[in-house]
This record gives sequence, structure tokens and C-alpha cells, in this order.
Amino acid sequence: MIEINIISALSDNYIYLLRNTEKNITSVIDPGEAEPVEKILNQKGWHLDEIVNTHHHYDHTGGNAKLRDIYGSKLIAPIYEKERISNVDIFVSDNDIISISGIETRVIHTPGHTIGHVCFYMPEENKLFSGDTLFYLGCGRVFEGTMEQMWSSLSKLKTLPDNTLTYCGHEYTASNAKFSNHLDPNNELLKIAFSEIKTKRANLEPTIPFNLGKEKKINPFLRVDDKVFTNSIGLNTTSVSESFKEIRLQKDNF
Ligand code: ZN
Ligand code: FE
Repeated sequence: MIEINIISALSDNYIYLLRNTEKNITSVIDPGEAEPVEKILNQKGWHLDEIVNTHHHYDHTGGNAKLRDIYGSKLIAPIYEKERISNVDIFVSDNDIISISGIETRVIHTPGHTIGHVCFYMPEENKLFSGDTLFYLGCGRVFEGTMEQMWSSLSKLKTLPDNTLTYCGHEYTASNAKFSNHLDPNNELLKIAFSEIKTKRANLEPTIPFNLGKEKKINPFLRVDDKVFTNSIGLNTTSVSESFKEIRLQKDNF
């Protein structure tokens, strides 16, 4: 079993500190800054063995150098971003089976937000670290890849089991929920999620992790291949990736 500490960082980032108590291994996923991670490591008396990055953006890697200096941690990052992340010890690529905190983890290449973005899936723990590819009720902005690539990346995540708990890179849930609700106001499951989200955010609690099975029914970006859904929101597109693009652009301007 793995213990996950959710650390808030920068304006709305999440850093995940993973601890395998049996094996005494500690890892951090996407340390956008070092200080809040150091603080918890000091409090708990843990050594940081591994640093893991989903993609090259500074809000996910900004703490790499300092943490690596202090702890001599091994840095694990996608090979596709090798020009843009420095001092990587272990490069990973699509479908690699690796160990994070001693837990078997599958690497899933999800280009779109950046070309080299990867997600990390732990089948035995039913956990997915989705970085800036999949957010609760949203998805990352398509900065480097094409809309087709982003849709195909999200489709890969959709094939993971329904009981998967998803840990994403940002607390964007409240604004995503507003947009989803605006598109799909009669979705009963979404209404329930929306009200739970409002309560959590009012108490400044994270809305993370979220259940992937439910997400498949309420996240509009995961439903663009559902004709009934796209018709219901008035999309007259000719292809699934066109529908995806349409919704992504609507959200960008919401
Ligand atoms: Zn990013
Ligand atoms: Fe980010």
C-alpha cells in the first residue's frame, strides 16, 4: 500500500508525495517547487528517493534541482522531453513498466498538452497520475500537440478501469465544473458532483483524487465520441476529434 500526501503549491498546483511504508521508499511527482516538499520530508523524517515528472513545464519541474541537490534523489522523466528537463537519471517511454516508490507503474505517453507528456498508472493500487492531460471535469490546454493527439491521449486514459483514482496536476475543478454544467445541465451525476465540489472548495479542501469511472460519464472531454451527448449539446461536427476541438475551444473562451 502506498500513502499519498497531497501538497498544494504555487497558485493551484498539486505535488504528490508518495510513501511506501513497507519498503521505506519515498517519491515525489511533479515538484513545481522544492520548499513545501522539503518541509513535509523534514516533519516526517523521510528521505526523498525519487523525483518523477509528467512533463517539462516549470510548474511541474521547478523543484527538481533543489530536491535532487539535497537528497541525491533519482530523477525519472519522459524521454520525449529530454531536451527540456535537465539531469534526468532514468528516462521512461510509452508502455514501460517501472517502479515508483517500489510500486509497479505503467508509463502512458499522452501527447497534446506537451509533445512528451506522460501519465503514470499503478494497476495494483488503482491509481493514475494524470499531470496536465486529464483534470477533474476537464483536460489540459493543447499547447504543443494537435487536437487529434490530445483526444487520442484521453482515449487511452478512458480504457483504464472504472475504479481508478485519478490525481491530476492542478486544482481547476471548480471552473471546469461550471463549464461542464453549462454544456450539460441535465446530467444528474454531474449535478451531484458539482454540489460536492462547491462544498469542498468552500472549505478549501482538494477535490482530488477523483473516480475515473464517474469521470467517463460527466467529463465532456471524455464524451466527444458519444453521439447522443454531442447531439444533445448541439455539435454538428463530422468527426470525434472535430467535436473534441470544438469543446476545447469553447472552454478556452468560457
Ligand atoms: Zn503543464
Ligand atoms: Fe501545469
